[in-house]
Amino acid sequence: MKKAIVIGAGIGGVSAALRINKLGYKVTVLEGTDTVGGKLKEFSMDGFRFDRGPSLFTLPHLVEELFELYDRDVDQYFKYNKHEIATKYFYEDGTEFTSYTDAEKFADEIKKVWGVDVSEVMHQIIDDYKKTSPIFLESGLTKITDLFTKEVFDALPVLTRLGWFESLHEFNKKYFKNDQLVQLFDRYATYNGSSPYKTPSIMRVISALEHDDGVFFPKEGMRSIITSLTKLAEEVGVEFKLNEQVTGVKYLGREIKEVNTSNNTYDADVFICNADVNFFLPEVLGEKIKTPKPKELSSSAMVFYWGIDHDFKQLDLHNIFFSNDYQKEFKQLFDELKIPEDPTIYVHISSVLNKNDAPENSQNWFVMINVPALPEVFTKEKVSEIEALLIKKLSEFLNVDLKEKIVCSKNWTPKKIEEDTLSWKGALYGLNSNKLTHALYRQRNKSNHYKNLYFVGGSVHPGGGIPLCLNSSKIVESLINE
Ligand code: FAD
Repeated sequence: MKKAIVIGAGIGGVSAALRINKLGYKVTVLEGTDTVGGKLKEFSMDGFRFDRGPSLFTLPHLVEELFELYDRDVDQYFKYNKHEIATKYFYEDGTEFTSYTDAEKFADEIKKVWGVDVSEVMHQIIDDYKKTSPIFLESGLTKITDLFTKEVFDALPVLTRLGWFESLHEFNKKYFKNDQLVQLFDRYATYNGSSPYKTPSIMRVISALEHDDGVFFPKEGMRSIITSLTKLAEEVGVEFKLNEQVTGVKYLGREIKEVNTSNNTYDADVFICNADVNFFLPEVLGEKIKTPKPKELSSSAMVFYWGIDHDFKQLDLHNIFFSNDYQKEFKQLFDELKIPEDPTIYVHISSVLNKNDAPENSQNWFVMINVPALPEVFTKEKVSEIEALLIKKLSEFLNVDLKEKIVCSKNWTPKKIEEDTLSWKGALYGLNSNKLTHALYRQRNKSNHYKNLYFVGGSVHPGGGIPLCLNSSKIVESLINE
């Protein structure tokens, strides 16, 4: 039986393990830390449960497919619901906006609040998403013939009107007119850690994830996505070895023969890397590549986890408190590489839907701002300063003394994100997509040099975020099958 080694047990690694196992390989997953999941972690504190990393769950069919691959009933492993509200938005002038996942209801609400008719452009964005995702998000784009497919032919009218050299912000300004509405649509650039003022306008299709298919909520927390998949993988014979950080490889010509950890050596026929390539290529493979400059990296995150002794009824599962000057925020993030002085704040509260996640009349707040991937900047003093700023801003928005209501607090800094998930500089998604070349030409899913080395996960094609990591494993499956 042929053998496969997967390096890293993030969502990309575990889904690749399931797919390659199905191809008939004996699969072993080597995970450098003491648990699976990578960025998909959780913890509890004083009766509150917190999702540690990702909180927004879209395209659940990509998870379901993995259970279907083995003819399993997904309900026996993983339970989730659709949620009607994508996000609640709060602006400093007091405007509040509820973004519904249903595209028509969303457009109606926009008309009510800002008087702008977005129905036509929303339909166009959803259509652009449907036509372009088979090309950019589901195909490996490893060879020139990948461009001569039916999908590319069908999408030609869309591809020619995409506005390749226009930024997302320029596109949004043209179609959404109102500054607050433009800010709402600009925010989608942050879903892959980029700036709306630089990332190409094709990134508008990200909004279709929420307003076509919808927003979902795993009933037992985001981590249940990975624990359910790992359970399935173990049942079907995938072996997981924890605390096995791969530190080197042995190759012969253009073929990897084995990988080493500090304790063991593992040989295999194919190797699938789920580690951040910006670490793996220079540090493990010893490739002489230029590591990306801070300005080329996606944003990192500064996250605070607060147990809140109050039930804020006006808040939902996902909430955004916008900064007043978005352009300045992104200039500081990506040009000046500074922590924004007036950051946009994201607050995720899973206890809105799962009452077990917090004590009665309390809420579990995951409070996040985007920050540059510069782990060294986040000293203890700096972190306290940021926490105080966020408490002040949110107190003003909600018209309460929030400090009094925080009963416990923890945080996750870019430095800790880097250490805990071995992500280069704590960047959430590897490279940012501020340049067209970075957006379209990330590390491919098959090595150019080694014929039996493949790549999955958020730092490679097609990009970061759970759905794209799951797509990367599908692409690797088809490349290995070839
Ligand atoms: P990772 O999660 O990066 O895991 C890689 C694994 O490989 C780790 O377990 C690591 O220990 C292991 N590893 C690395 N090097 C080695 C080695 N040499 N040897 C052995 N093992 C190794 N995405 C969304 O879809 N929605 C969100 O709302 C969202 N919000 C986010 C918020 C935060 C704070 C963070 C941190 C991320 C967020 N993301 C979100 C991004 C999402 O979490 C990631 O894109 C995705 O989980 C990355 O999965 P991955 O497969 O690349 O692996």
